[in-house]
Amino acid sequence: MVKSYRPDTLPEALKLMETRDMIPFAGGTDLMVKYQSWKGTLPGFPKDVLFLNYISSLKKIEVKGETLVIGAGVTLSDVADYPETPKVLRDAVLSIAAPGIRNIATLSGNICNASPAGDSICALYALDASVVLSKSGGNRECALPEFITGPGKTSLNSGELLTAVKIPLKKANVQEFRKVGTRKANALSKLSFSAVAEIKGDTVDGIALAFGAVGPTVIRSTELEKKLTGKTLEQIKLIQKDIMNDYSAMIVPIDDQRSTAAYRKQVALNLLKNFLESGLVQEMQ
Ligand SMILES: Cc1cc2nc3c(=O)[nH]c(=O)nc-3n(C[C@H](O)[C@H](O)[C@H](O)COP(=O)(O)OP(=O)(O)OC[C@H]3O[C@@H](n4cnc5c(N)ncnc54)[C@H](O)[C@@H]3O)c2cc1C
Repeated sequence: MVKSYRPDTLPEALKLMETRDMIPFAGGTDLMVKYQSWKGTLPGFPKDVLFLNYISSLKKIEVKGETLVIGAGVTLSDVADYPETPKVLRDAVLSIAAPGIRNIATLSGNICNASPAGDSICALYALDASVVLSKSGGNRECALPEFITGPGKTSLNSGELLTAVKIPLKKANVQEFRKVGTRKANALSKLSFSAVAEIKGDTVDGIALAFGAVGPTVIRSTELEKKLTGKTLEQIKLIQKDIMNDYSAMIVPIDDQRSTAAYRKQVALNLLKNFLESGLVQEMQ
């Protein structure tokens, strides 16, 4: 029979994770769908369940030095409400589901679910976020692209829990999140786009561009971002065609029940074009 555990402290939770094979349960908004029972009975969890939502130390969101640290128990609503949350992440979080879900779903749950359509993940890639992974013996930190290894797959080791998300609070006077879905609420992304840039005068001082749901994991190219960095608007116009071609080669989506590969690719490139031609321009002028 499946057992459930409800620790009040992190050390207690990590001890349990060390000794048993368990499913961590945060808000449960992905898990309750994944293990729902069509017979109308209780969900059919295949393993013991570890409830994380009574651990108060995981519910902190705070700025430490130059870093925003979001505990694993912080809900999407709390992330959206926090004044220091970068705009691109706030907009991504507010595009997820509807208020009722956001009030219990966590940012960490969205990350650990590792869906290519996970909206916060697209924004977090553009923000250079990392995750803190803890086990009884200690912590390790992992950049998001190293943590998410494929659709539904992460590099979380046995006995580990994700305990915090860290976001370096860099200067970024342009931040944009765009989600394309069937409707505004309760719709998973057909694709998403996140852009974070710092414009000084008429020059791009730094830029990060991320595309969600158009590949097995979020697509981001620091190499192409380097080609845009240090350029003025006029110079970007001259290289825009080449940049678009390079992104086009990288964006290789699939057909699924939500969209076709052709639609995803075309719209992702349209969002990029629109950003390069008007998103950046607004700040530069
Ligand atoms: C109606 C509906 C609409 C939705 N709309 C969207 C949407 O628009 N965009 C979107 O991105 N998502 C959407 N979702 C998916 C879901 O709500 C989010 O992914 C949510 O952020 C998951 O958080 P949670 O706390 O509920 O995770 P849970 O369901 O508790 O867990 C998700 C996964 O993460 C693991 N996990 C959770 N916390 C930890 C931890 N601390 N350490 C290790 N593993 C952990 C769990 O074991 C599980 O595998 C929707 C879901 C529903 C039901």
